[in-house]
Amino acid sequence: MKLKASEISKIIEEQIENFDSQITVQEEGTILSIGDGIVRAYGLDGIMAGELVRFEDGTSGMALNLEEDNVGIVLLDKGENLREGDSVTCTGKILEVPAGQELLGRVVNPLGKELDGKGAIETGTYRRLEMIAPGIVHRETVSEPLLTGLKAIDSMVPIGRGQRELIIGDRQTGKTAVALDAIIAQKDTDTICIYVAIGQKNSTIAQVTQKLAEEGAMDYTLLVVASASDTASLQYIAPFAGVAMAEQFLYEGKSVLIIYDDLSKQAVAYRELSLLLRRPPGREAYPGDIFYLHSRLLERACKLSKQQGSGSITALPIIETQAGDISAYIPTNVISITDGQIFLETELFNSGVRPAINVGTSVSRVGGAAQDKAMKQVAGTLRLDLAQYREKVAFMQFGSDLDEVTQKQLSRGSKLVEILKQKQYAPMKMEEQVIALFAITKGFADDLALDRIGQYEQELLAHMKSQESALLQQIAEERALSDSIIANLDKVITSFTTQFNS
Ligand code: ATP
Ligand code: MG
Repeated sequence: MKLKASEISKIIEEQIENFDSQITVQEEGTILSIGDGIVRAYGLDGIMAGELVRFEDGTSGMALNLEEDNVGIVLLDKGENLREGDSVTCTGKILEVPAGQELLGRVVNPLGKELDGKGAIETGTYRRLEMIAPGIVHRETVSEPLLTGLKAIDSMVPIGRGQRELIIGDRQTGKTAVALDAIIAQKDTDTICIYVAIGQKNSTIAQVTQKLAEEGAMDYTLLVVASASDTASLQYIAPFAGVAMAEQFLYEGKSVLIIYDDLSKQAVAYRELSLLLRRPPGREAYPGDIFYLHSRLLERACKLSKQQGSGSITALPIIETQAGDISAYIPTNVISITDGQIFLETELFNSGVRPAINVGTSVSRVGGAAQDKAMKQVAGTLRLDLAQYREKVAFMQFGSDLDEVTQKQLSRGSKLVEILKQKQYAPMKMEEQVIALFAITKGFADDLALDRIGQYEQELLAHMKSQESALLQQIAEERALSDSIIANLDKVITSFTTQFNS
C-alpha cells in the first residue's frame, strides 16, 4: 500500500487537530483508495473483523482485512458517489440480517431488503451473519426423513432432517429442478424452505419465484437473492444471510430446508474479493480459506437435541462442475464437507433419464437411518439391481446370445430405470412412491412394453387414490409394509394389472 506524500501530511494534520478527541479519530476514518468495490480506509483503529461500516453518503460496507495501517472494506452497495478522502464510520455492529416469520413468502437481498415490490419488511429481530455452529452436545443424529418427492432420491439416496446433501453436476443437468421439487414436496410438512440464489440471472430467479408461487409453495418459502448483476460482496454473503435467517426458525424448534444455488458461484465471488483485497491466491487462485468458508457455512446445518428444541436445518448445497470433473478444487472440498452427494449427469439427462441421477456415484451417508421402513422394504435391493443391470447392458453390447435369466434381469432393470424417471414439479408422497416401486420390483409389470410403464404408473396411482384410499392411508400412517398390507397390495395390483393389460 503506497501512500502519497500529500495524503500522509493531510492525515498527520488531522491527527494533530483532533488530538484531544481520541474517540472520533478511532471511530471515523478516511478513504485512502477506492475501486472495484473495495475501499482502503485509514483511521478505523477500533474496528472488528466483519464489522458493518457506513460511508458519508449512506453506502454500507463490511471490514474484511484488518491491517496495520489500513482497513480493507468491501462495499455492500454500489457506492458510485464515494471519493477518496470521504469519511467512513464504524457502527460497532457485526453484520446482521433481519430474521423472522415476516420474511416468509418474500424475495429479499442478502441484507434483508425486499426485492419483490411488496413493501418494506419489518421483523424486529436481527441475527448475526456469522455464528458458531451448534456443538456436538447440542446435536442429535439424523433420524427423521426429509422427503424430496423424487422416487430416485427418496428410495436410493434418502435425506434426513439436519443432513447436508450435495447436488452436483454440469450445467443444465437439472440441479435446480431437484431442489425446487424438494421445496414443493415440503407442502403440509411444517418445513420452512429457504432458497438462496447466487449469481443467477434475474430472469431465472423470476421464473423460479413464479413457479413456486404457482405450486403454492411461497407460503412457507423465502428467497434470498444475490443475482449475477449484484456485487461480489453480496454474492459472497448470500448463503450466510440465508442460514442466519434459517437459524431463527431452528431455535424456535422448527424444521428448515435451505438450498444454496450455487456455491461454485459464491466461491468465485469470494475469490474475486480476496484477490482484490490482495490476499495471497492458492490452488486455482482461490484464497487459502475457501475450504473454511464452505465448512463453517455447512456446519450450521444440524439436528438439535430435544433439550435444544428439536429444530433442524437441512442443507442442499449445489455445485456446478465443468465437463463432469469432480476432482476440481471446489467440488472435492464440498464433497468432503457434506454427508453425501447426488450426481447428475449430462449423458443420462440427454438420454431422457430425468432426474439424471447417477446411482452408482450418488450416496447418502446418514440418511438411511431416517428412511421409512416401507421405503426400505421396496427399495432395499434397488441399487444392486440397477448396478447389475448396467453391467449386463455393457455386456450385451458385444451382441452375444443371452440366456433366459439374463434376459429377465435386463428387462426388469430397464423397467426400474423407467419407473425412476419423474416429471418436473410432480413430487410424490411416500406411499405413492412405495406403491410404484412395489409394482415394478415385485414384477407385476414384467410383461408390459417399456413405453407403457409411465402410463401404467399413472393409472395405477389414480386407481389407488380413487378406489383404495384406505390402503394408501394405512401405508402413510404405519410407514411400514406389514404382511397384511403386502397381501392387500398384491391383490389390488394383480387385479389392476390384468385390467390394464386387457
Ligand atoms: P444450470 O446449470 O443452468 O443452473 P441446472 O442444472 O440447474 O442448470 P435446471 O435448470 O434445473 O438445470 O434444468 C435444466 C432444464 O431441464 C430445464 O429446462 C428444466 O425444465 C429441465 N428439466 C429438469 N429436470 C427435468 C425433469 N425431471 N423432467 C423434464 N425436464 C426437466
Ligand atoms: Mg440451476
